[in-house]
Amino acid sequence: MSEVKYTTAAKILKVLGYILMMASVFLIMIGISGFFMGPIHPAIDPLYMLFSGLLLFMASLPILMMSQTGIVKPEFDVISLLRCSNADCKFTKGRKFEKDEYVFKELDEKCEKCNSNFYIAAIFEVERKPSKKKEEKTMNMKEVEKDSKQEESPAPKTPS
Ligand SMILES: [Zn+2]
Repeated sequence: MSEVKYTTAAKILKVLGYILMMASVFLIMIGISGFFMGPIHPAIDPLYMLFSGLLLFMASLPILMMSQTGIVKPEFDVISLLRCSNADCKFTKGRKFEKDEYVFKELDEKCEKCNSNFYIAAIFEVERKPSKKKEEKTMNMKEVEKDSKQEESPAPKTPS
């Protein structure tokens, strides 16, 4: 199962993060345009807009990151317990719950031992065992601003 499910809390955080980010971009754009075209309203200081936009942007980043990693809670698998309908066999096995299954539903699946049909004896949730998380060394999120070495290299000597 490669699909990553997010918990509701993480989803809300994600949406919140995106909203914040969009709002911040909006503010920054208004701020910048204020510099060029004059403030859209005398009460609105473009510098202030730009500033609050940047603040919002910085606030939205950790929220987005948290929603991606930090607080994603352990997931639960829903398991269907299949039991052989043959009273003499009563072989049981568990497998992942499939859509539209309910307790006592007769299945087309056959028992491996006696070839009778399985029925669903129980449906329950189990906590998915957390896969060994590589302990990520918490690196300080230093924004490594590379000194832009954009020295325009002299035109290469073209052999003539
Ligand atoms: Zn059986």
